Amino acid sequence: MPNIPLADFRAMWQQNRDRYREALERVGESGWLVLGKEVETFEHELAESWGFRSAVGVASGLDALEIAFRCEGMKAGDRVLTTPLSAFATTLAILRVGALPVFVDVEKNGLLDLNRARDVMTKSQIRFVVPVHLFGHAIDLRDLAELGVQAQAKVIEDCAQAIGAKSHGRAVGTASNVCATSFYPTKNLGALGDAGALLTNSDSVRDQARRLRDYGQSSKYMHDDLGMNSRLDELQAAFLRSVQLPLLNAQTARRQEIARRYLAELQNPHVVIPSPPPNSDSVWHLFPVLVDHRESFREHLNKNNVATGIHYPRLIPDQNAMRGTAFEVVGSLDNATQYANQEVSIPLHPYLTDEDVNRVIASINNFKPKS
Ligand SMILES: *Cc1c(COP(=O)(O)O)cnc(C)c1O
Repeated sequence: MPNIPLADFRAMWQQNRDRYREALERVGESGWLVLGKEVETFEHELAESWGFRSAVGVASGLDALEIAFRCEGMKAGDRVLTTPLSAFATTLAILRVGALPVFVDVEKNGLLDLNRARDVMTKSQIRFVVPVHLFGHAIDLRDLAELGVQAQAKVIEDCAQAIGAKSHGRAVGTASNVCATSFYPTKNLGALGDAGALLTNSDSVRDQARRLRDYGQSSKYMHDDLGMNSRLDELQAAFLRSVQLPLLNAQTARRQEIARRYLAELQNPHVVIPSPPPNSDSVWHLFPVLVDHRESFREHLNKNNVATGIHYPRLIPDQNAMRGTAFEVVGSLDNATQYANQEVSIPLHPYLTDEDVNRVIASINNFKPKS
């Protein structure tokens, strides 16, 4: 039985080799390697397909978040409400601007609890909130926009897992003045290496983000900000624009088709499938399930050559790197802790065949915990 991996970069290469090679050839022949025509064109096409005026390509999702925060005026000492259940990068970007993360619990679906967020933010005057559209689900954008107004806070959405997801028919990211995303290879829109972007309708944010990614330069050797080096390579932009971006809608549809099958056909009393947020048109970056007997479940799938992952085994405030760092936890983190203890991600990616999906479903449905 062939292995069913969590992501399949070899299949990706085999199916798209010619287009990757053409993109490589084009960049090589152009004689221009960093921040050029490929980046500009990719930014334009990405912004247009997402429904924003501008995109600014940067070196990673982490940098996109940090630059977005700086553009929104987040400063050292500011308190920033966010989720304890995410990639560590979400909080790391907050810490990199010197701000102080404030964690509240997630809902049963794993996404930030906006009611708790509102209570804490209005009570203690927190002016920034960084929600994460985790697993490819969209947090309710109406509730999020309302939270921003009620708490007089800036919303900066982390869209790294949710490119293309919608809430009430509206694209994720659009409750923010500027949002951030990642093109890390495992993401729904992945490069052949590291890359990220910010999206905005504001020309001044666009211009500031362009400066910040390039040493704060406003023009050659003129430095208006203390920026960073987060420039995007022409090669990654060319791969994204010529290969991955044109595939995104079809690959998202395939993810959604597989998720529909899992939702309809996974049936095992020991495996709980959390419901996505009610108004989310999800893009299924991951397919999380909750299992009491996590280790024996993963062992069983492993024996059936079905790969699994855990997102995430340790909450952000519990990470070793957070010791000696200022942060706050408000209230219990019971729901997030349940994910840390019980979550398992099963294979969901566009290169799965129907046969693979059948095997994942059969393997899960015949799991029995060892007593
Ligand atoms: C991947 C990810 C990031 C960071 O992106 P990088 O490109 O790896 O820096 C941030 N937030 C979330 C939710 C992610 O999944």
